[in-house]
Amino acid sequence: MPELPDITVYIEALASRIVGETLERVRIPKPFLLRSVDPPISAAQGKRVLGVRRMGKRIVVELEDDLFLVIHLMIAGRLRWVTAGGKVPGKIGLAAFDFSNGTLILTEAGSKRRASLWLVRGEESLRQFERGGLEVLGATLDEFAERLARENHTLKRSLTDPRLFSGIGNAYSDEILHRARLSPVKHTRRLIDEEVQRLFDATRSTLIDWTDRLREESGGDFPAKVTSFRDEMAVHGKYGQPCPVCGSRVQRIRYADNETNYCARCQTDGKLLADRALSRLLKEDWPRSIDELTWS
Ligand SMILES: [Zn+2]
Repeated sequence: MPELPDITVYIEALASRIVGETLERVRIPKPFLLRSVDPPISAAQGKRVLGVRRMGKRIVVELEDDLFLVIHLMIAGRLRWVTAGGKVPGKIGLAAFDFSNGTLILTEAGSKRRASLWLVRGEESLRQFERGGLEVLGATLDEFAERLARENHTLKRSLTDPRLFSGIGNAYSDEILHRARLSPVKHTRRLIDEEVQRLFDATRSTLIDWTDRLREESGGDFPAKVTSFRDEMAVHGKYGQPCPVCGSRVQRIRYADNETNYCARCQTDGKLLADRALSRLLKEDWPRSIDELTWS
């Protein structure tokens, strides 16, 4: 699922193409995508784009007349930029937004339809999408520490909770915790100050480094390979492969239809977090399902 670095790079690519352009037409071959009724989607047509911004893991396109298109890609939603008037791919194509200089296509692979589109009027109507998560890149250490201490959860759960932190999901939370050398099952209120500082630094540097890397990779083109699994990741999706820091094999905790990856030597003093021993934890203090992890 696209997280802060992926969404940021999408937004930059979009902004450079559509800000100042007119949205000429919206085509929605899969009507379930559109979750709002009023104003009608036709109200967006003929309006100029004033800006593009991120809200958590959502993309917001601001149009003239106080209109806002809100796109949530969820897990498998992706964007493409094609020649103006380009065809919407039959099976995976959800919508096309036609501008004079090109067409933005929204696709979603797989059979589960989770991506969504809203058209709302007025800045205050955007509040319904506000989950309250802290934007770590704009936050102080004190604000970060306060968020962590607000609820006593595992670090994995807290980092991926959109009410606590904005834009962080399963992939980057694994990478952040590895960089911070902290266990995914450590409880937030048990962190000492030095660990909070380390987690804060690791969160910031992971998000910044990955945004830079993805930006560089797309090199001004529209981002084409948006995925949660990347070769350069240290532990996420790397079960059984050597940790790039210490060389021991990356471990996993499986739950629902997801897994968390970590390095025992770097993060848990060499302790393996056995699935069975975690059962209570997994019931009570873990993102319960992919939906809980991603609904932000
Ligand atoms: Zn390691």
